[in-house]
Amino acid sequence: SNFYTIREYPQGTPALEVFERQQQELPELQDGEVRIRNNWLSVDPYMRGRMSGVTTYIEPFTLGAPLEGAAVGEVIESRDTRFQPGDKVSHMGGWRDVAQLSGDAVTTLPDIAVPEQAYLGVLGMPGMTAWTGLNTIAEMRDGDNVLVSAASGAVGSLAVQLAKARGGTVVGLAGSQAKRDWLESQGIKAVDYRNRTAEELTEALQAACPDGFDIYYENVGGVCLEAALNCLRVGARIAVCGMISRYNDTEPAAGPANLAMILIRRARMQGFIVFEHWDQYPRFIAEIGPRVAAGEISYTETVREGLDATPQAFLELFEGANQGKMLVRLDSA
Ligand code: NDP
Repeated sequence: SNFYTIREYPQGTPALEVFERQQQELPELQDGEVRIRNNWLSVDPYMRGRMSGVTTYIEPFTLGAPLEGAAVGEVIESRDTRFQPGDKVSHMGGWRDVAQLSGDAVTTLPDIAVPEQAYLGVLGMPGMTAWTGLNTIAEMRDGDNVLVSAASGAVGSLAVQLAKARGGTVVGLAGSQAKRDWLESQGIKAVDYRNRTAEELTEALQAACPDGFDIYYENVGGVCLEAALNCLRVGARIAVCGMISRYNDTEPAAGPANLAMILIRRARMQGFIVFEHWDQYPRFIAEIGPRVAAGEISYTETVREGLDATPQAFLELFEGANQGKMLVRLDSA
């Protein structure tokens, strides 16, 4: 089996050389284990946190060991009666071509007419994150005005569509014209955040949504957060999903200068980790799965080819090179 590991815990933006491809001879399959040929690997922003060498809400990656991440593939050998060769499954044994895992760590893909890689994006962890953040954390109500940052990414692109379906004005921040064109095609007002001060971005947001926002779905931090704080309605909720603009920082960043807007607008700001809401995943699939299969929900993928593309695909997330979900397709797919 071929896999990627990291040689050291990087400071700042990781260099490509931090990642190292290695080979391992897989031991014979034990009782209860499953061997899976991965077809698709997911690269996700949260993985940067696992490269920092410290425990946050999750353990750091182990230097020299295969990196872990979401993947979908096909069972090729099984000593767990729940799985047969040919079954399509998802699991966390990514960054490798063949994974060997306990059957307890493997999930059979739901029976919905969507491509298998949808379970890494719109019907997987990122989609579940968008749904949880809007409904459970921000407690969205019909007619709410919603602002989403990284709005054309894996999480953001579902968040904006779920928000739009419930009636209010939805505004998305996105860093390229192609991304903003996609947002506009969904009926969402798109705003460019790049090279703008908090004051300039505040003005652009006020122009897009003069009444202000009931919800800010936060994926980015920094200037986007500061501008959003200026545009809250009374009683607004901020779901803090991520702060990707800070993940490669080497020094503590200054906080938003206007945090007092939380007080002035009597707003609430709450962080969340999707894995702690995973008991709700069947509800999410039941509600969103058929809408994806029916083509009512639009999702975009950015695909890089081959295991060797995985480190670069991961680093590209921090350059905004992806539209929709960033994926790696392996030769077997
Ligand atoms: P995306 O598909 O949104 O990819 C990342 C995007 O972030 C880029 O395409 C880029 O879009 C934007 N971005 C990157 N760097 C910056 C920067 N410096 N400033 C502003 N924007 C930037 O990734 P995901 O949908 O997988 O994740 C989105 C967020 O959700 C992340 O913060 C992630 O950590 C978080 N998350 C949290 C979870 C939780 O449980 N709390 C679970 C899953 C994700 P653009 O070109 O528009 O700038």
